[in-house]
Amino acid sequence: MVARAILVVLAFPIFHFMLQLITILNRCHRFPGFVYQQAGFSFDHKSIEIAVRPRKGSAAVCSRCHQSAPGYDQLPERRFEFIPFWGFLVFLLYSMRRVDCRRCEAVVVEQVPWGDGKRTLTNAYMLFLARWARRLSWKETAEAFHTSWEKVFDAVEHVVTFGLAHRTLGQIDAIGVDEIQYAKGHKYLTLVYQIDLDVTRLLWVGKERTIESFQGFFTTIGDEVASKIVFVCSDMWEPYLKVIREKCSEALHILDRFHIVAKMNKALDEIRAGESRRMAMDGRTPVLKKSRWLLLKREENLKTEQRFRLRDLLRYNLRTVRAYLLKEAFQQLWDYNSATWAGKFLDEWCRQVMRSRIEPMKKIARSLRQHRELILNYFRAQKLLSSGVVEGLNNKAKLTMRKSYGFRTFRCLELALYHSLGKLPEPESTHDFF
Ligand SMILES: [Zn+2]
Repeated sequence: MVARAILVVLAFPIFHFMLQLITILNRCHRFPGFVYQQAGFSFDHKSIEIAVRPRKGSAAVCSRCHQSAPGYDQLPERRFEFIPFWGFLVFLLYSMRRVDCRRCEAVVVEQVPWGDGKRTLTNAYMLFLARWARRLSWKETAEAFHTSWEKVFDAVEHVVTFGLAHRTLGQIDAIGVDEIQYAKGHKYLTLVYQIDLDVTRLLWVGKERTIESFQGFFTTIGDEVASKIVFVCSDMWEPYLKVIREKCSEALHILDRFHIVAKMNKALDEIRAGESRRMAMDGRTPVLKKSRWLLLKREENLKTEQRFRLRDLLRYNLRTVRAYLLKEAFQQLWDYNSATWAGKFLDEWCRQVMRSRIEPMKKIARSLRQHRELILNYFRAQKLLSSGVVEGLNNKAKLTMRKSYGFRTFRCLELALYHSLGKLPEPESTHDFF
């Protein structure tokens, strides 16, 4: 008798706690038609299990037509993983009913509001994981919440799929198209951003950087939305130019400043590497050693010590130095306000470069001449487009790719990019769980 009394006293706090848990769940994760019946620890005491049952008299809903339907039978109990709590995994236990749906003329499993029937995670937990997966890498998210990478993937996929199905495209004034390399061996993605003054977001991710892949974007948004686009920003990649000519013939097409600068930096880098190698072979003083960032960064971004080293380097009569000076001179272009004067400057710069006998720079000059009008469109549109937006988005995209390192399949990257840059609507939730 005494022993029993002690047991009751010892068991009471746990029992009380479990009751509180149900009260909390009813506050934050309540669904009409269902009740939390009881909560308890699992056999191994590692997780908390909460039994759920249908509220008496409430009919099951057919998962195909979303209407209530008469019951047919009940399936064995399933475990739906909920948000972990104080170091315990939490599961909702529920036996799904099947309905005999006359509308669907079939026996169909019921629809439950906390999950989608196919996945083992509850919607609330998926949204919770997906939100963390935007801040941490997917691997870190899985580790932090003692779950698997696959479940984090599932969670992000669920949230992104919902977001894409429920987003509103509305009117799009300006788009920027950009390519990004995601694996060795020339594997590229095509990214299309909306770059309106008030909305910047990733609209679309396509495999490869071909005409077909970019056309996929226009198929997605439809002719109506496409015909109203006023500005298109891109680089000089010919397949993009072709699609833009075709699909947005009315829009002002602008070659993005950031892409031109990037191209020039790449050429300069190539010249420096080649010359540095030749100097080493000839046994000359390796003055170009460790000069890469001195030459690629804008001078105003260099530290004082680096600035001295750059000045020092510029005294040498090297191809690299001449190319650097040409690149620096080119920067003036962006200060012009009028397209006419910018055009005059551009022509003069190209003339100088063509006399320079530095082939990678000449290649750029030829390409700039060829795209002269598109470059000058930058000045024609200047005040109406926030410059540097595509560059900023490109940097964010690269950061996202680095975070998903190790899982560089197209599907993973596609999801990760939409998730972090798409500004997609999220599934509704009964409560903000963090
Ligand atoms: Zn039905």
